[in-house]
Amino acid sequence: MSAVPGAAGTRHEAARYEAVIGIEVHCKLRTASKMFCACSTAYDGAAPNSHTCPVCLGLPGVLPTINRRAVQLVLATGLAIDAELAPTTRWDRKNYFYPDLPKGYQISQYQLPLAADGRLAFDTSEGPVTIRIRRAHLEEDTARLVHAELGGRRVSLVDFNRAGVPLMEVVTEPDVRTAEQARRYAEELRLVLRAIGASDAEMENGQLRVEANVSLRPAGREELGTRVEVKNMNSFRAVERAIAHEIERQAEVLNAGGSVHQETRGWDDARQATYLMRIKESEDDYRYFPEPDLPPLRVAPAWLDEIGGTLPELPGTRRARYREALGLSAYDAAVIVADPGATELFEGTLAEAADLAPKAVANWVTGEYLRLSRAGGAGAPEASAPGSTAPAARAPLAGHAGQPATAIAGRVTPAALAALLRLVADGQLSGTNAKEVFAAHFASGQAVAAIVEARGLRQISDADVIAAAVDRVLAASPAAVADYRAGKAQALGFLVGQVMKATRGQANAGAVQGALRERLDRTEA
Ligand code: ADP
Ligand code: MG
Ligand code: ZN
Repeated sequence: MSAVPGAAGTRHEAARYEAVIGIEVHCKLRTASKMFCACSTAYDGAAPNSHTCPVCLGLPGVLPTINRRAVQLVLATGLAIDAELAPTTRWDRKNYFYPDLPKGYQISQYQLPLAADGRLAFDTSEGPVTIRIRRAHLEEDTARLVHAELGGRRVSLVDFNRAGVPLMEVVTEPDVRTAEQARRYAEELRLVLRAIGASDAEMENGQLRVEANVSLRPAGREELGTRVEVKNMNSFRAVERAIAHEIERQAEVLNAGGSVHQETRGWDDARQATYLMRIKESEDDYRYFPEPDLPPLRVAPAWLDEIGGTLPELPGTRRARYREALGLSAYDAAVIVADPGATELFEGTLAEAADLAPKAVANWVTGEYLRLSRAGGAGAPEASAPGSTAPAARAPLAGHAGQPATAIAGRVTPAALAALLRLVADGQLSGTNAKEVFAAHFASGQAVAAIVEARGLRQISDADVIAAAVDRVLAASPAAVADYRAGKAQALGFLVGQVMKATRGQANAGAVQGALRERLDRTEA
């Protein structure tokens, strides 16, 4: 980017700067119990403070116990992001006072995170990007503050159900350069977390929280500028908008001769602007020290092998396989892998019918299937493919090819799509009618063959049937026949139309044209 001295338009304030962004993601791990006690993490919809015990309430005299599954999920994440896994780690106390923190400290990992030095690669509209990941560590969540009005008074209530829930924090190096890269990084991380079963990672209900550290520096300079932490973004779109907004805000400050203050700002989605939340604490304020109530944690190599052995195919590997082994475009591969329902349908259909061309299956999945599932509200609009603004629907990751073709509206089974594509390949269904059948199957779950029969959509390719219809039409259309013989090419189109009409649109148009030509040219001679 070149410096434009004096350019002061609000939309281009940032033109002379380079943005530097580091991202911190907190995600709620998919465990049955809390991080250091046996309380259930399934408290959604439960009465406040019904999922608590002396440990997660921080009562005196209790001792924490480490949740093995939570450790396992962070290790799996570490493997998935190609990180170094610590053979031995320990826990640290992060001290601060807040009503949502009953112990007065949070147990976290400061000096020795479970995973360090990883990376995540993904595509953006400007090409592929790899972001280095500094660390992934385990910690515990805080309670939830509820600000309410009670008997005419404004009160703040504390619900400890969330207190002590296992959280993983994943922190990048300051490698991100644009708001789009930040959104794509968060989307890709969520895809990985879901693929390995580490987290449900729903942004709207706080299972995945994205915070961005944003600073600017003059283009070409090495030294980092002062950063601002932006939080409270509850969708991927908000992540991108908040960061873009913050880049512009800082550029305005700098261009006006001011300086950026290190602070925490919140994103106000309604106003589409960030606002000051607080001046940032420094690390010293937390008085980190090793947690005396927990022993160091040693990770047995055999356990690591076991975790590595059960990792599924990761999104990046799957995209590469779709491109390289199946010949899909980078775009189709990204769109399919970004959506679990699409992935399931694509994989399942190919498993069902190995004879079908992957590209043809991909076209139906990225085209008709995603169009209908997005329009039908089968899932919340969330992730998107690089360079696209279209939201992707979410569908549960259920079984693949082996599952029975049960009739469920709003879903397409691999068996149904395979059956449909076979009819098209065999010339029994026209492309246009296939879309109609697909939509009807999507809406009702009714079997493809039954829809084709009920709607009379089976294409007539039988040469005798077509020849009979052609003969009838030729006999009834002497003027058009004469025109054709006089060299008027359009006459053929008219005759094809007549045969299609006579067969109620069911004749194979290509076969009809061939039969007509053959008859006309033969009788002419
Ligand atoms: P904290 O202790 O506040 O969490 P860290 O040093 O751990 O701060 O960094 C948090 C995140 O901020 C990391 O993702 C890091 O890459 C990023 N970061 C650090 N300095 C800057 C900067 N000057 N500009 C942008 N991002 C930064
Ligand atoms: Mg931090
Ligand atoms: Zn508890």
